[in-house]
Amino acid sequence: MSEKLRILILEDHPPDAELMLGEVRRAGYEPEWKRVETEPDYLSQLDQGWEIILADYSLPQFDGLRALDLLRECGLDIPFIIVSAVIGEEMAVAAMKAGAGDYVMKDKLARLGPVVKRELRDAAERREKRRAQDRYRMLFESSRDAIMTLEPPSWRFTSGNPATMKMFEAKNEEEFLSRGPWELSPDRQPDGRASVEKSREMIETAMREGSHFFEWTHRRIGGEEFPADVLLTRMEQGGKVMLQATVRDITDRKRAEAEQAALFEIAKDIAGVVDLNEILKRVHQRVADVLPCDRVFTYYWDAACRTYRAVAWHGVPSRLVPDAIALEFHSGQPVTERLVAGETVLTNDIVNQSVVPLEILTHFGVTAVLAVPLVVRGRMRGALAALNTESGHRFDPHQVRLFEGIAQQVGVAIEAADLYRAQEEEAAIAGALARVGQELISSLSSPALLDRLCQLTAEVLGCDHSSTWLWHAPDKAFVPVARYGDSPEQWEMMRLVKLGRSALATQLAGMERKGVFNSKVADLPDSEAKVWACAHGLTASLMVPLRRGGELVGFQTADYRGRDDVFGGRHERIVRGIGQLASLALENVRLIEELERANRLKSEFVATMSHELRTPLNIIMGYNDLLLEETFGSLTPEQAESLEYMKRSSSELLELITATLDLSRLEAGRLPLDVAVIHLPDLLHQIDAATREAREERLRVAFSWQVAPGLPPLRTDGVKLKIVIKNLISNALKFTDHGSVTVSVAPNDGGVAITVADTGIGIAAEAREIIFEPFRQVDGSLTRPYGGAGLGLYVVRRLLDMLGGTISVDSEVGHGSTFRVWLPTGD
Ligand code: ADP
Repeated sequence: MSEKLRILILEDHPPDAELMLGEVRRAGYEPEWKRVETEPDYLSQLDQGWEIILADYSLPQFDGLRALDLLRECGLDIPFIIVSAVIGEEMAVAAMKAGAGDYVMKDKLARLGPVVKRELRDAAERREKRRAQDRYRMLFESSRDAIMTLEPPSWRFTSGNPATMKMFEAKNEEEFLSRGPWELSPDRQPDGRASVEKSREMIETAMREGSHFFEWTHRRIGGEEFPADVLLTRMEQGGKVMLQATVRDITDRKRAEAEQAALFEIAKDIAGVVDLNEILKRVHQRVADVLPCDRVFTYYWDAACRTYRAVAWHGVPSRLVPDAIALEFHSGQPVTERLVAGETVLTNDIVNQSVVPLEILTHFGVTAVLAVPLVVRGRMRGALAALNTESGHRFDPHQVRLFEGIAQQVGVAIEAADLYRAQEEEAAIAGALARVGQELISSLSSPALLDRLCQLTAEVLGCDHSSTWLWHAPDKAFVPVARYGDSPEQWEMMRLVKLGRSALATQLAGMERKGVFNSKVADLPDSEAKVWACAHGLTASLMVPLRRGGELVGFQTADYRGRDDVFGGRHERIVRGIGQLASLALENVRLIEELERANRLKSEFVATMSHELRTPLNIIMGYNDLLLEETFGSLTPEQAESLEYMKRSSSELLELITATLDLSRLEAGRLPLDVAVIHLPDLLHQIDAATREAREERLRVAFSWQVAPGLPPLRTDGVKLKIVIKNLISNALKFTDHGSVTVSVAPNDGGVAITVADTGIGIAAEAREIIFEPFRQVDGSLTRPYGGAGLGLYVVRRLLDMLGGTISVDSEVGHGSTFRVWLPTGD
């Protein structure tokens, strides 16, 4: 694709123009062109945006050199090429001098293309350079930085932009240019004095290294200072070496850095501290330092009263503190309304404003006020205020912005502290209730439970007194049943009190409505209850209902005695929880009592039944024996055999009934311990005699006693111990077909060990757990070869529990079992 090129041709001979255009096309351009011959035509075309001019040297009414002059006069830089038939050396020199880019002979027109190309390139470069220079000049002129040049050998200033004149407070440019490089010296004094040596060093460094940068404090003649950056750069211009100095006022940057640093420090304080008072103390201190200002206040917003109240302050003289605390900003006051609307309040001129009453400001000696609302997630939490007094300083927009940033962080800190407090309180309440719950659940009888309840209530709430009152239907009154914090005399007095519903009307209604009743005793309406509480020295009470199945059965109180305190919301929540836990515990106690009663009834029934069954069974067995002894006549072998069956079955039935009776007696608690000093060898003799018959039946089992000498006397219930040992022996015999049964008795570990070992069928490991449970047998099938009700070992274990002893079993299936009993000596 060829490039478009706008060409103005100054030529009176059209064929020549065509030739030129041909060359231009060959060079890759697509010309857009116009040919002119006269001066007026040429002039009228000059401002038409031509990119290059090709001109004949001499024309009938015009000539190339004149055209070149006119172009310069117009201040245009369009490449200009002379294209001529004849051109002498003189002519050529004149043309080049006048500013022609080149000249081309018509007979060597092939050069034209490359020349055009070069000229266009050169022109573009020239344009670029001019643009850069323009830009630089503009920067130089309009820059807020002071830009100046210094030249050797004196290194006086050789130029300075308008900002330089302003910064260095020069009378005029001439005066400034008479100054030397010490103006920039790091040692410059407010009066302009500086060490010449320092300025020489600075120049040498810049010349050696190409540039030199340093921070510097510029002091104005009036003494005012600001921080600045200085950059010295080595430059060469037109073969001359010089230094350019740029001085930049960095007040804004420094201030922004300081603000960032302050906000960062505050963020650190807030993140690292939990206690809000401590946070506010630190934030106030920082505000006073970095804003800076003379006094700082934090106000809380009381949403209920729509009022700002001071909660923390800094820099307030102690004589003014009481007044400052007393000062509240209510809704309706202009300052309150502005803050509530989320606006920052700024008052630098206290006289000409109506936001804060003048008399307040003068009373506190305040000259400027800056107040920002503390709003977190759309919720008004308070306000932060900075005040100036003695210093008389005004607050500028930077300070306002910084202060707003700080307020935002303080708002967040207040919110975080509130959350933390709420969480801690929540944890404390949960902890207290968990403790009460745990303790109440472990007390299973009501008197102990209620005493414990009163003690826990007083401990958890940190109060002086607590009592439990239950409804006593016969008296139609609430009566105290447990208490904590009374002397025995006070309790004696208290026990006599009975309070009817009317005496407690206010309290009962309050509990009904809110779940708790919280009041100072002095504020109660006159009633028996108030008289009683006053006489008892109580000053404040919290009351919570105790319910059973939704029905009010009493109430729990927590009381202060002889104090001016009242209970707070946290106390109310704890006591509400205690009420619920206590109601649950009372319900549990009632259920357990009911269960125990039902169990007792069942045991009594079983005992009676067993007893009633035994009497007729004994009669049956008696007659059976008489028949077997042939008292009523001789028997055939078949009859005798049948009667033997009957005898065996009857004794099994009797055994079962006896065991059931024992068990029910045991469960009904009607087998009281009858403790006496027992001489073990005597007891063993009795057992030996009682088991002889059973042992003799087992012909293939060798029975032996191994009684160690020196057995200690035991303080225990001999009858029960006998039942234990007899049971174990009878089991060993029952489950051993051949081999041996050995009973060993020996002193052991502060008591006596009794071991019954057999070589019988043994007990599988998984069965060893269940054999001590009632009605459990290893082989529970109906076709089992061994009789028994599965109660023996259960009774043994229960009896040993009563005697303070233990039992364990070792066994191997097919090889035998060893039951070990241990009993304390009992002294
Ligand atoms: P039972 O009236 O059935 O003997 P126990 O409570 O005395 O009831 O025993 C429970 C079960 O434990 C027995 O049925 C039996 O299976 C097992 N058992 C008890 N003692 C022994 C023993 N010495 N050898 C093997 N098994 C035994």
